[in-house]
Amino acid sequence: MTTAHGYAATSPTSPLAPFSFERRAPGAQDVALDVLYCGVCHSDLHTARNEWHNTIYPSVPGHEIVGRVTAVGDLVSKFKVGDLVGVGCMVDSCQHCVPCADGLEQYCDNGFTGTYNGPMFPNGTNTYGGYSNHMVVRESFVLRVSHGLDDLAAVAPLLCAGITTYSPLRQWKVGPGHKVGIVGLGGLGHMGVKIAAAMGAHVVLFTTSESKREDALRLGAKEVVVSKNADEMAAHANSFDFILNTVAAAHNLDVFLGLLKLDGTMTLVGAPETPHPSPNVFGLIMKRRRLAGSLIGGIKETQEMLDFCAEHGIVSDIETIPMDQIETAYTRMLKSDVKYRFVIDMATL
Ligand code: NAP
Ligand code: ZN
Repeated sequence: MTTAHGYAATSPTSPLAPFSFERRAPGAQDVALDVLYCGVCHSDLHTARNEWHNTIYPSVPGHEIVGRVTAVGDLVSKFKVGDLVGVGCMVDSCQHCVPCADGLEQYCDNGFTGTYNGPMFPNGTNTYGGYSNHMVVRESFVLRVSHGLDDLAAVAPLLCAGITTYSPLRQWKVGPGHKVGIVGLGGLGHMGVKIAAAMGAHVVLFTTSESKREDALRLGAKEVVVSKNADEMAAHANSFDFILNTVAAAHNLDVFLGLLKLDGTMTLVGAPETPHPSPNVFGLIMKRRRLAGSLIGGIKETQEMLDFCAEHGIVSDIETIPMDQIETAYTRMLKSDVKYRFVIDMATL
């Protein structure tokens, strides 16, 4: 065991504060790493404040991790000391169910182990995430980072925001000739815009923030719609092949479903604290529209996404913060005031 230092929430209402805890010594199949950067996902905030009613306290959030390998177990073959690596939302899964065998560990029949708010198999202890100085992770859940050294902080958000948008865009075969909507220009949404544009789609960004118009175009959207303006929305009725909805709050889904063409799909990745109002059935059946969901992505696909982003020069647009500014970051996130992902520089811990 080694002592790790990080930041933890100890209750839904207590601000995150310094916290020390034990990490296991690296086993034969483990990689130990120093955390260099950790992105701040809205899921961290949902968890720290128990908005999903499943938080185990103390809770050390953080699942957008870039680090440097400090030790490897005897059976580790893919990584060596000094390598730059990533860790995303999962650190383990059963590895023998059908989804795991298919590289879909996020849908493990026995439940994957989250990077934070585990619990760890087989003993059920909590897992602690990337708002900390070092980690120990099973090799098969460690990713290779091939971006340049200058990009490392901006690569961190790819480990969740990147894969959570890449996976559904691939699953629904987005590409040239497709009209694709991205709803919400936050951490996930801005990655969705970049990745869908790189896949060759015609990207339309939906935002509630008039002030984000210019940014959306710069990030790769061809059109921007302020979703509160009914006229702007009406101009796009029945025209989308696919919409990826990243919004972190409950809202009316019908206004977006009505923009899908025959057989179009809207996939939800946002996971609000309270349910969306139920969609209108007629809005679905009259055009055989589909409403779907998607959860992060498997390890193989996460590596594919990292390599795709490295190849296309894609990183996140970030604001780097010191660890002790995390509560300010959360406050700004709740006001949709993030350009477009906070990343903690772990050297400030
Ligand atoms: P974020 O950075 O806070 O972005 C969310 C965006 O949603 C905001 O920037 C805002 O964009 C829009 N928004 C916020 N409140 C809204 C409201 N009341 N009505 C309409 N739009 C609103 O959050 P994030 O980190 O991208 O995460 C987004 C959601 O995805 C969270 O619920 C998170 O837990 C979830 N998530 C899911 C997965 C998965 O695997 N499915 C993975 C990671 C995260 P505009 O200003 O442009 O409107
Ligand atoms: Zn996340």
